[in-house]
Amino acid sequence: MTKLRLAIVGAGPAGIYAADILLKAEKEFDVSIDLFEQLPAPYGLVRYGVAPDHPRIKGIITALREVLDTGRIRLFGNVLYGRDITLADLKKHYNAVIFSTGAIRDADLDIPGIDLDGSYGAADFVSWYDGHPDVPREWPLDAKEVAVIGNGNVALDVARMLAKHADDLLPTEIPANVYEGLKASPVTDVHVFGRRGPMQVKFTPLELRELGELRDVDMIVHEEDFDYDEASRNAIATNKQVLVIDRVFTQWRARETGAASRRLHLHFFARPAEVLGEDGAVSGFRWERTEPDGEGGVRGTGEYREIPIQALYRAVGYFGSPLDGIPFDEKRGVIPNREGQVLGDDDQPLPAVYATGWIKRGPVGLIGHTKSDAMETIRHVIHDQSSWWTPAEPDEESVVTLLSERGIEFTNLSGWHKLDEHEQALGAPHGRARIKVVARDEMVRASNRP
Ligand SMILES: Cc1cc2nc3c(=O)[nH]c(=O)nc-3n(C[C@H](O)[C@H](O)[C@H](O)COP(=O)(O)OP(=O)(O)OC[C@H]3O[C@@H](n4cnc5c(N)ncnc54)[C@H](O)[C@@H]3O)c2cc1C
Repeated sequence: MTKLRLAIVGAGPAGIYAADILLKAEKEFDVSIDLFEQLPAPYGLVRYGVAPDHPRIKGIITALREVLDTGRIRLFGNVLYGRDITLADLKKHYNAVIFSTGAIRDADLDIPGIDLDGSYGAADFVSWYDGHPDVPREWPLDAKEVAVIGNGNVALDVARMLAKHADDLLPTEIPANVYEGLKASPVTDVHVFGRRGPMQVKFTPLELRELGELRDVDMIVHEEDFDYDEASRNAIATNKQVLVIDRVFTQWRARETGAASRRLHLHFFARPAEVLGEDGAVSGFRWERTEPDGEGGVRGTGEYREIPIQALYRAVGYFGSPLDGIPFDEKRGVIPNREGQVLGDDDQPLPAVYATGWIKRGPVGLIGHTKSDAMETIRHVIHDQSSWWTPAEPDEESVVTLLSERGIEFTNLSGWHKLDEHEQALGAPHGRARIKVVARDEMVRASNRP
């Protein structure tokens, strides 16, 4: 029987679901899958994006782990595509490749002052609090007043992590340095800004409601933002999500505030205009008040407002990164593709090269969406059998030899199990499920110990 030797680059949910779907699909060939991941541990943004105080979502790792544990997928961790392994290598050893490399960078926000000291991208902060090995261990948390720009779930995660008392994060898997950093934070006020109205937000009701449950944090909303126009009233009447969001705000509007030591302010109809600076550092934020334009959008009113802040986080979206030898759409930050078939300059599918997940579709949508994405891509992988590559060295050992000869300290699945157990053992004496290991060399050491 023919065998498909498939390389998948990126061991986030998209890559793992793609492997799972292919293994379970009806097909007239055998499959052998190698999963390459730049980090020593799998699971992508489920491990390094989802907030540590969302254990239910982090629990998706259990389902992803079951896929890896079927024993039908080999994991090569700590292997960076483009440096440790190239497209030419993949062509030599595999019939096809799926790129599922996600998106890790912050999208830009083009306003004056955005490069001042104290102005950060949300993705970097998320990587810090989730213990990503490639960001510095220290994070400057010395601001009392902070602005978070954006009205999606990531903005709410960032705002919540900034406003929440560090002790309330102790039951989670946060690394020790993150706890220490947050514990020392002098923050009193976190201001979240969105361009549109409260009924046009992108966050989900569950994430919003959670903010109101933070201990010793007052939710501050402004009555002027709740003078609904017809489009907003319509949205409440016809969309259940919006209805629930409206209910949450209604509760907060009626709440007594003033007793808490920290405040989380939500500002709507606020278009970012400028990050103000003093001596090169963030000292304030200036925005233009907007109003509904009657067509579901907003327009500026010409009225500008300012508040003092000492730090600013932009949570205006993630952005994919280009991959060596693979076409890239610079505007959208994705690999150009049709239903997962990667397209060349002539708009025609490149043989045997596929994409799935956030690098295929752009950085929107929940983990579950990467499953339907993967189904679409895998359908093409199966149907395109006649255009797969014909590798010169398809045997499974030759890749192991190649990586070893290059001196790459790759990790494998049993190594991940060892690291996983090590992290759990670190947490046990403190009554915590795990404490994450952050440093890459320490992760590799724990994975590759005999
Ligand atoms: C801050 C944040 C919070 C989120 N919270 C939630 C939530 O609560 N619930 C929810 O459902 N969704 C949440 N999401 C969305 C969810 O994380 C994504 O839908 C999902 O992770 C996308 O999957 P992916 O596999 O495409 O990308 P990723 O999860 O990013 O995985 C890509 C993998 O590819 C690897 N990689 C990248 N480049 C290379 C390379 N050159 N060589 C080798 N490997 C490479 C990366 O290291 C990574 O492991 C959140 C996202 C963010 C950013």
